[in-house]
Amino acid sequence: MGLKSPLLGVAGATMFAAWRADHSPRLRQAAPAARLAHLLAYARAHSPLYRELWAGVDPAAPLSAYPRVTKAALMDRFDDWPTDRRVTRADVEAFMADPANEARLYLGEYLVTHSSGSSGAVVVVLNDGHVRHVGNTLRAVRRFTGLRDYGRYFTAGGRLACVFAGYPFHHGAGSSRLAQTRPFVRHYVRLTDARDPAAVQTTMLNRFRPAELLGYPNAVVRLAEEQLAGRLRIAPVRVTLNGEALSDSGLAVIRQAFGPGCVVERQYTSSEAGEIASACPLGRYHANDDWLILEPVDRSGRPVPDGEWADAWWLTNLANLTQPFVRYEVPDRILRHAEPCPCGRGGAWIEVEGRSWDRIVFESAAGPVTLLPVLLRALVTDVPGTGITDFQLRLAPGNAVALRLAAPDRDRAFALVRAGLAAYLEAQGVTASYELDPAPPGPDPVTGKFSQIIWLGPKEVAQTV
Ligand SMILES: [Zn+2]
Repeated sequence: MGLKSPLLGVAGATMFAAWRADHSPRLRQAAPAARLAHLLAYARAHSPLYRELWAGVDPAAPLSAYPRVTKAALMDRFDDWPTDRRVTRADVEAFMADPANEARLYLGEYLVTHSSGSSGAVVVVLNDGHVRHVGNTLRAVRRFTGLRDYGRYFTAGGRLACVFAGYPFHHGAGSSRLAQTRPFVRHYVRLTDARDPAAVQTTMLNRFRPAELLGYPNAVVRLAEEQLAGRLRIAPVRVTLNGEALSDSGLAVIRQAFGPGCVVERQYTSSEAGEIASACPLGRYHANDDWLILEPVDRSGRPVPDGEWADAWWLTNLANLTQPFVRYEVPDRILRHAEPCPCGRGGAWIEVEGRSWDRIVFESAAGPVTLLPVLLRALVTDVPGTGITDFQLRLAPGNAVALRLAAPDRDRAFALVRAGLAAYLEAQGVTASYELDPAPPGPDPVTGKFSQIIWLGPKEVAQTV
């Protein structure tokens, strides 16, 4: 729904709406129903795919009457999906073929991101101005420190360092790159690539002196270890973590490295949903359920009651009218609580298990080399010309790498991926063995959970609350 006020503009009106919702439980409850009605009517009118899928659904019916959609089904019919009928998959892919376009808006309007998420195929997401404003607002307003810590942030210089795997068009990195093209703002934002050697990152950050580090938990843990070793010497007043869960030991390292003066914020995000939830001072993730509808479901798609673990959840994103996500399956395991959180914040609080990845430890002559799953995934998905539609990378102690592939020519795809992996690992001093596993990528036979990166070594327990 296009919020706009002549006085505040789109960004100001969105921020004001979020602030008002946080101060009026009645408004917060009423907002999703109006946004949902608008989204359903708009998608039905302008998206040929949804019009077809919903042909048998009464426009007056509740959301529960609408069919579930999957990433694969939407991507298969991509050209019929967006409500902006100028958009085609071939055109978006041609745009994405030039990494320099990451800092540009597709058709002058859309920030393009893509993600393979915690499972399955790649999804391409168009973020229009409204989606970006909602995301920026929720990130800013729904921190557990609220707006209070902005004084300390600006006193500390107001500089933001984003730590992402710098592969092009990844959620998070794109908006940072876009910020770097803006006059004035660009002096306050730097992007550091978690794939770079630690020495390159520490040199840049020591010079930049960020007030905030924002990025993948495990990438930030690696920087915290550099700080503890004395090579990184920065004094951020806050660290914001998103994208994956963090182990208790990882959180302890970050706290120890940056001290009690640094607030650690955690957010649950995705390309398709944007800001899903933010952790409160008690560490509980409060859903932004005025901007998205979250339906916990079991493996058969039946609703799961509050208080029980769900195998997945269905997302209805109330902010994205350009590319509607209505009852879109998200394969993360969550538990939604019916009881209010003692912190007093609005929004049902949830626990999230889906992204509890481990750090993967290789051996080198110089000692253990720790790599992040997100980086290893990029080393498979970012190799051009492989035709890979799905994969699983299985890693075992002793530098054993096995790859399961779904691709038209698996031997050729394996040779291409292997060359890139070997070059990357050898640059880190790691000599590994590589094997093409003939089994197709599939879910864990015990848990039923699908993961693309599987670490067969010792595991850390991820913190989910
Ligand atoms: Zn709370």
